[in-house]
Amino acid sequence: MIDFLEEVYKRKNEMIEDIQTLCQIPSVLDETTTNEGQPFGIKCREALEAMLEIGKRDGFVCENVDGYAGHIDIGDHEETFGILGHLDVVPCNASGWNTEPYGATLENGKLYGRGVADDKGPLIAGYYAAKIIHELNLPVRMKTRIIFGCNEENGSKCMQYYFTKKPYPAMGFTPDAEFPVVYGEKAGVNFKITGTVDNDNLIGLYSGTRANIVPEVCEAYLTGSYKQYRESFLAYLSKHHLEGHVEEEGNHTKLVLIGKSAHASTPELGINGAVYMCHYLRTVSQNQLVEFIDKYFYNDCYGEKLGIAYTGLMGQLTVNLGVLNYKNGNVSMIVDMRVPHEVTDEQLTKKMHQSLDFYQLKETHELGKALYVDPQSELIQKLHNAYVEFTSDNVHQPQAIGGGTYAKTMPNCVAFGVEFPGGDNKIHQNNEEISIDDLMKATAIYAKALYDLIKE
Ligand SMILES: [Zn+2]
Repeated sequence: MIDFLEEVYKRKNEMIEDIQTLCQIPSVLDETTTNEGQPFGIKCREALEAMLEIGKRDGFVCENVDGYAGHIDIGDHEETFGILGHLDVVPCNASGWNTEPYGATLENGKLYGRGVADDKGPLIAGYYAAKIIHELNLPVRMKTRIIFGCNEENGSKCMQYYFTKKPYPAMGFTPDAEFPVVYGEKAGVNFKITGTVDNDNLIGLYSGTRANIVPEVCEAYLTGSYKQYRESFLAYLSKHHLEGHVEEEGNHTKLVLIGKSAHASTPELGINGAVYMCHYLRTVSQNQLVEFIDKYFYNDCYGEKLGIAYTGLMGQLTVNLGVLNYKNGNVSMIVDMRVPHEVTDEQLTKKMHQSLDFYQLKETHELGKALYVDPQSELIQKLHNAYVEFTSDNVHQPQAIGGGTYAKTMPNCVAFGVEFPGGDNKIHQNNEEISIDDLMKATAIYAKALYDLIKE
């Protein structure tokens, strides 16, 4: 029996140093320094070179694929297992941090810094998992290719490019989500809806700036004195346990309603400010946009009213009215949907077009790709078993999510870790962190899972 956890701890200091090396490079997309060999800017290039340097130091064959991505080959078989991570990070608001954001500071058994959990730390965990199998001379039938891109946070153009130049591995995982293992990712789609309707008494209606977030605040501008609306609006707020207020603005009235934001892939956790505003406005306005939104979105984030509700092997289709802009009759809105893999574009749009046509609204959209790997497949089973072996967690099962990861860029690939159930690594937030013990455990899980999948 190989004690993978012990092998990981033997390499603990080396791993921490490698993560620090990578995290001390602020590899945020920088369009002002794009050039040949650095399509995402100078810092992404530096991070890519630093990762390749780590592979070279350890004696592995490395390749830089035109600055978009790179890989390190561990072992020399023809057949390949892929581990996909990313080296780019989202920007930081330094004033909100307790440590230097690009310091990768080690404190109280944790690393703090941008990228420690998303995704430089997990990438190094995957790298060491393969390195341990190699250093122990374990008999394998596949090589492991550690693949790292530089544009995951801004559309994964890195992997799209990489796979036009390099073959797909036979299978793989990406350590860029959560444990136990993600077997399904719904397809994402944004419906951009535009049109013109009669104003009635509604001058303006604004809510949300990003389609992938349930909008919290909604502002409505109406003709007429605030006295017309105040009593009924405040009563509505109190009835629905919402915050908000009424303002007098010259000869018109501004209403503000505050709901609760949430990620668009879990809209049921939020309170959509725009939708709740329209439900109120319908009692004081004949505006057709208000009617449309109230009729099709109120109290429904699963598309029942639009006639597109669907529950498949990955769960329910979800709907989020994410952005709403209305001024003097001109409508512009974005609806974000997360769609199970069984649903076709036609199923999605046929019924919806009838509703849109009635209100003379138009839409454009592009249905993204869904990912579905059979939960009973060898890949999912072995990844999950390795997770259970090191955590004794039989409660959390393989899951499907509404978000999208790198796994979608390659067939037979799923997201696997690195966040443990109930944990919070503060990804994309201030004070991003990862505990060293979690990191060690994740690496042992990766090594065990990888070995089970590639051994002779
Ligand atoms: Zn990530």
